[in-house]
Amino acid sequence: MHTKAATLTAAPDGLRYPFPTPPKPDEVIELAPGLLWVRLALPFRLNHVNIYLIADGDGWAMVDTGIGNDATVAAWTTLFEGPLKDVRITRLIVTHAHPDHVGLAGWIVERFGCPLLMSQVEYLQAAYHQHRGAPERKLAQRLFFRRHGMDEEITEALLGRGQEYLTRVSILPPVYHRLIDGGEITIGSRRFRIITGGGHAFDQVMLYCEADNIFLSADQVLSKISPNVSVWAVEPEADALGDYLRSLAALAGLLPDDVLVLPGHGVPFYGVKTRITQLADHHEERCQMIADACRDKPCTAADLVRVVFHKHVLDAHQTGFAAGELIAHVNYMRFTGRLTEEVGPDGIARYIAR
Ligand SMILES: [Zn+2]
Repeated sequence: MHTKAATLTAAPDGLRYPFPTPPKPDEVIELAPGLLWVRLALPFRLNHVNIYLIADGDGWAMVDTGIGNDATVAAWTTLFEGPLKDVRITRLIVTHAHPDHVGLAGWIVERFGCPLLMSQVEYLQAAYHQHRGAPERKLAQRLFFRRHGMDEEITEALLGRGQEYLTRVSILPPVYHRLIDGGEITIGSRRFRIITGGGHAFDQVMLYCEADNIFLSADQVLSKISPNVSVWAVEPEADALGDYLRSLAALAGLLPDDVLVLPGHGVPFYGVKTRITQLADHHEERCQMIADACRDKPCTAADLVRVVFHKHVLDAHQTGFAAGELIAHVNYMRFTGRLTEEVGPDGIARYIAR
């Protein structure tokens, strides 16, 4: 009987979810004394983002903001008039520059007169995105996708996309305070170690409280989905996947397996080391699919999108992300000697497995 009970309580993937039911839009869940969980809607297939509030003296430090649209302003207003009535935000910590995390930073900072804390790279990245639609940048994207054999029509459909960032963020606060990897931050009675990592974003901030065994993982370690790890036109030779895998390895070395992980999406979980192994294995599987395809014949990144994502029907937006992911794998495999690149007289890059 004992064995049976044990198998029933353990999730098949080895992770455990102590708070399986997320907060409703007008709800706040207390995860621990002085630690609150709020969830906001997103207008994507990934339809929500988590916000955490950490007790900070007579107020609360907020981690991430939600996307910068009217619906999120309305959701926050409901929360600040309801379960978070009279709550004062003392500090806003933003983990990275993606619009679902930094989107409402301007609105929160203005409403509460609180400081904004980010890593330097993510703050500057957010500032860069505020001026994203320049024609020369679009040309760089067009040439990048052409080099990787992408369909011109899909490229056309994609190039309007960058403009959307500005519709999804409030104005970035003009002043910020820098969070540095390896530093510490005291929030109320808790001390957090600041950890930053690349791959999903350039220098995403995570917070680890050793005394309470809590890890705010942002989007670096999610329980059910693999965070997007992409290479973009702005840095075509980036090793985003290598950066990501190195960050995962560092986290696996630092964190105890019984740490409570509070992710940017999904629900809190235990089993960080298991999850890190799963995420690394997932990328290695993709690398092997790419290597197999490139052993038969030289392939472009666009060819490889069809090989790796053959089970998915992708629209232009998703094709853009799939191409970014694919190029991240190709670059990583080039830098680790598993692929070589050949650029033909057509200017298109093709990859060959050794
Ligand atoms: Zn996110």
